[in-house]
Parts: sequence; structure tokens; C-alpha cells
Amino acid sequence: MASAIFTDCSSATKAVAMTSARLPPLSKLKDQQGAVISPRSISFRPNSRSYSLLNTVLYTTRAMASSASLSPVVMAEDSSAKIIDGKLTAKQIRDEIAIEISRMKESIGVVPGLAVILVGDRKDSATYVRNKKKACETVGIKSFEVSLPEDCSEQEVLTYISKFNDDPSVNGILVQLPLPSHMNEQNILNAVCIEKDVDGFHPLNIGRLAMRGRDPLFVPCTPKGCIELLHRYGVEIRGKRAVVIGRSNIVGMPAAMLLQREDATVTIIHSRTKNAEEITRQADIVIAAVGQANMVKGSWLKPGAVVIDVGINPVEDSSSPRGYRLVGDVCYEEACRVASAITPVPGGVGPMTIAMLLSNTLDSAKRVHNFK
Ligand code: NDP
Repeated sequence: MASAIFTDCSSATKAVAMTSARLPPLSKLKDQQGAVISPRSISFRPNSRSYSLLNTVLYTTRAMASSASLSPVVMAEDSSAKIIDGKLTAKQIRDEIAIEISRMKESIGVVPGLAVILVGDRKDSATYVRNKKKACETVGIKSFEVSLPEDCSEQEVLTYISKFNDDPSVNGILVQLPLPSHMNEQNILNAVCIEKDVDGFHPLNIGRLAMRGRDPLFVPCTPKGCIELLHRYGVEIRGKRAVVIGRSNIVGMPAAMLLQREDATVTIIHSRTKNAEEITRQADIVIAAVGQANMVKGSWLKPGAVVIDVGINPVEDSSSPRGYRLVGDVCYEEACRVASAITPVPGGVGPMTIAMLLSNTLDSAKRVHNFK
């Protein structure tokens, strides 16, 4: 995970040190009042100088019979970008998954199983694992959890992986990262059998993702969630210029490969890149996965760009009961005035990551049981 000290662009508060397959198109998203929203294409206006044009979006709403009195959701007439709502979309995906799992249970009498291995006592990792377990319960996936002490041996972890590899009721195995420093992460991730690699981190899956004409069994969850948001919000990818900021194995690099597979022309920016701002300004689609609060300013963006902000960074906020709040890698307030659409933090990519894990686990179970 990234670590940095940064300044909050909106309020100039000082940041604290930070530790920190495609699904079918969404036919019926609901807004918070329950009205049905039909996302239509978010169009790029690459040469537009007029921010007022950036808001002619793009949603039509149809009140459902049951909620016909609700007002339709329309874009505000000010210069705000459209919000790409990851929370809402993830909920929709979880509902779809739950329906599929009930159908599976009724017709073949099995439900998917996900095993999570947690090593050590990092609070953030424990929270992620708890959230994953909870999400499994909501859709009907059976979860298996193993918690090992920080000082356990690599061999112990490998033994559990081997046990889950052999267990037919387990369709996905997830080793929560980061692992303690005395363990070899590569050895451990390589031990997960590729058919159960729902995190998509196995080199064979990544290798297939990188190759033309090959398909990985699983795509890493966070980048898959980014692309899913673009799909479900009707953002055209083919032929567009995309910039991915960050090249980590788990987010930046696979996100860039996914965009390329969808025929975008992709540039990757990393810590040694010169002129990051200028390069980013050429992009129709920006995916920021850096771990630096508010690094991408409004001036970095081409008017009308679509922005997916993966970053999760705590910044000091004395008005919050926790003393901090979470912000992305993109300065949201500035970006909203330039982009045509943007994911918020929180509530953007974060919820999609877990939804994609559930989706990968379901896909795995369907594949092994040949369930269509
Ligand atoms: P890493 O620290 O592994 O990677 C960060 C990447 O950003 C590296 O490639 C690094 O370049 C690059 N980078 C760092 N500083 C700069 C800079 N100043 N300019 C350009 N590039 C830079 O982070 P992760 O990929 O694991 O995570 C990125 C962010 O996404 C974090 O905030 C993390 O919390 C969040 N995250 C969110 C998830 C979600 O579900 N929403 C899931 C996973 C992560 P180099 O390679 O040269 O070092």
C-alpha cells in the first residue's frame, strides 16, 4: 500500500501520514429514492472549452410502477460532473449475484465457497476480511476463514492453501495482503491453484490478461471494478486515450491491460514519469491508483474526461468524529468542474472491489459445476 503526506486541495487541511468477463449492462439501476435509472452513454467532449456543456448528461429515469411518483433523476444544470456511483452499482451487482446463487442452489444444490486467509493482526486487513465475509453472507456465498498469528511460518500458510485447493466446497481462495515481511508473497500466491485464484493475482492469470487471444480465468477485483463501472455507465472505451496513474501489480498494471484489451490507447504514469500532468491532460479516461491524496488537480484533466479514482487516503479532519476523512488521489472538487463523470471517494471503486470478488467466486463455482 502507498504511504504519503499530502495536502487536501479543498480545505487546505494538512494531511496525516498514511498507512494504510464483463457483466451484463446494468439495465435497471435504482437511485436512492428507488427510481429506476437508465445510464446512457457518457459522451466525451475532448475539445470542448465550455464547462457548461459538460453536464448535459445522460441519465433518463423511468419511475417504476411502484414508485411512479418519484421525481426523475436528472443532471444538475451547474458545472458538476456526473457521479459514477460505485455504492449503488455494487449493490445492484450483489443483488444479481444473490439471484444467481439462489438459482444455482435450487437447481444443483450447491452454493459457492470462498476461503480467506489472514495472517497477522493488522487492523485494516482484519476490517477488509470482515467486510468480505459479511458481503459473502449477503449473497449466499459460504465463507471459510483462517486467522494465523503474525509469526506463523510460510509453510503453515501453504498448508492451508493446499487444503483449500483440495476442498471441492471452496471455489475461491484469497490470501489477504500484505503478508508479514518474513514470508515470500510470490511463493504463497503461486500456491493458490489457478482455478481458485479469485483475486486474479496468479502469474498465469496475469500472463493471460497480458496476451492477445488469451483469457484469464479471473481478473483482479479492483481493476475489474473500474472497468465494470465504465461499462455500466455506458462510457465508450474503444479508440479512446486512457491514462492509468500507478503501475502496481494489483491495480495500475492490470487496469492498463484491461483498458488495452478494450482497444483504448493506454499510457501508464508512475513515480519516474516526467510531465505527468501534461500526459494526463490528453486522456479521455483517467484511472488514478497512486495512494497520494488529491494529487491529480483539475488542471491535469482534459475537459469532459471520465475519472475513476481508486485511491483511498486518510487526511486529517478535525470536524470528523474520527479525526480524519478519506479522500482519493484526485482532487474531487476541482475535478468535478472539469470532468464529465467521476467516482467519489468513498463510494466509488471501493464497494466495487468486493462486488467483483463475489462475482469472481460465483464464476468459479459456475465453471467447476458447469452451471450456465
Ligand atoms: P502502490 O503503492 O502499490 O502503487 C502506487 C503506484 O503509484 C506505483 O506504481 C507508484 O510508482 C505510483 N506513484 C507513486 N507516487 C507517484 C507519483 N508522485 N506520481 C506518479 N506515480 C506515482 O499502491 P496500490 O496500487 O496498492 O494502491 C493505490 C491506491 O489505491 C492506494 O490509495 C490504495 O489505498 C488504493 N486502493 C484502493 C482499492 C479499492 O478497493 N478502492 C484497492 C487497492 C488499492 P512506482 O511504481 O514508480 O513506485
